[in-house]
Amino acid sequence: MIAEILSVGTELLMGQIANTDAQYLSRRLSELGIALYRHTVVGDNPARVKQALGEALSRADIVITTGGLGPTEDDLTKQTVAETFGLPLAPDAKSLAAIEALARRAGRPAAENDRQQAYFPEGALILPNACGTAPGCVVEAQGKTVAMLPGPPHELKAMFEGQLAAYLARRSGTHIESRFLRVFGIAEPDLENRLRDLFHCDNPSLALYCAPGEVQARITALAPDGAAALGMIAPIEAEIRRRLGEAVYGEGMDGSIEGTVFELLRDRGEAVSFAESCTGGLLAARLVGVPGASSVFKESHVTYADAAKARVLGVRVETLEKYTAVSSQCAREMAEGARRISGADWAVSTTGYAGPDGGADGTPVGTVFIAVAGPNGTRVEEFHFQGQREFVRTLAASWGFNLLRLALLA
Ligand code: ATP
Repeated sequence: MIAEILSVGTELLMGQIANTDAQYLSRRLSELGIALYRHTVVGDNPARVKQALGEALSRADIVITTGGLGPTEDDLTKQTVAETFGLPLAPDAKSLAAIEALARRAGRPAAENDRQQAYFPEGALILPNACGTAPGCVVEAQGKTVAMLPGPPHELKAMFEGQLAAYLARRSGTHIESRFLRVFGIAEPDLENRLRDLFHCDNPSLALYCAPGEVQARITALAPDGAAALGMIAPIEAEIRRRLGEAVYGEGMDGSIEGTVFELLRDRGEAVSFAESCTGGLLAARLVGVPGASSVFKESHVTYADAAKARVLGVRVETLEKYTAVSSQCAREMAEGARRISGADWAVSTTGYAGPDGGADGTPVGTVFIAVAGPNGTRVEEFHFQGQREFVRTLAASWGFNLLRLALLA
């Protein structure tokens, strides 16, 4: 099967965004053994989209389009595909109901352009959108196939992994299964070294994806049926888990380190509080982002000034004077103070220099102390994060969750 990718979006041509969707799809198609011959980028212009689609279809068996599925006027991919094959656009009842339900929840009727997102070239296979509104679809006509995916990368990725990958595998006479392991605290080059020998195999294949502080390892197997594919994945997964131990904190595409901490606390019937300086509320915001957080989260104190650390958390003035606020001693007293005043089983504190400047005493930017206070005492760790202010703060919050996770597992 020969494929081409047609990316639709004027912002791609203007250089406003990079074509990461095409990069992602290219990597995945090659892992699926599908020959990809060309990428084309075209702006939101009906005539040029139609021309580019026609050219791609004259060369390839399957064209995968990205973008142009949304509710705005320049979202014209489905109309163009329908016109190209001479098919009418027809409503899909399920998609329509989902769009109307979404509008009802927002307290308004669905607008005409919202409803447009539920119209597809007649006979299309609908790909529901788990992360957004606009569904994708696959049209098979005149011996060719066009698969249409949404532009936003997280929507595209979820739709590809959850639906299109299996469709493509079926079309090429195989079954595909993937398993995502989420790894925290091991940098990608180090992880690559530790798993180096496992990358040599094409099937099952292993690929790494980076995010701040963490890496996702995806194991994919192609086999005649699902059971056989899972059977191929199992020994690789076991080997990765054996080598990485507790660094594997979760599974699946949508996990998060705070989600794992939430589950651990919930299962133990315990709660946490935070004492935040450089993270400025990030720990609290991320935990509250997990549905059900109220059962495990008590309170967070954003104590940015030294005086607030002393007044709210009871950090001793001598500690602040002798060691400064960015010190192991201060982090310890912050966490112990938050645990004491909140009555929570656990408390996590963060204090550090997120940047652009370090400490007046020469402590470098990126220095962060994180403490976890719990039923068996307090543990403090010192970090030296590299990067811009926001990145340092994100990493500090992620490490706060990770240290709590490790304390919960101990
Ligand atoms: P929406 O429902 O959000 O309108 P859509 O399928 O219509 O989705 P577009 O409107 O074309 O998609 O793009 C929406 C956003 O997705 C863009 O502003 C951009 O941020 C991102 N995006 C689109 N195409 C790509 C691409 N090829 N690579 C990376 N990001 C992309």
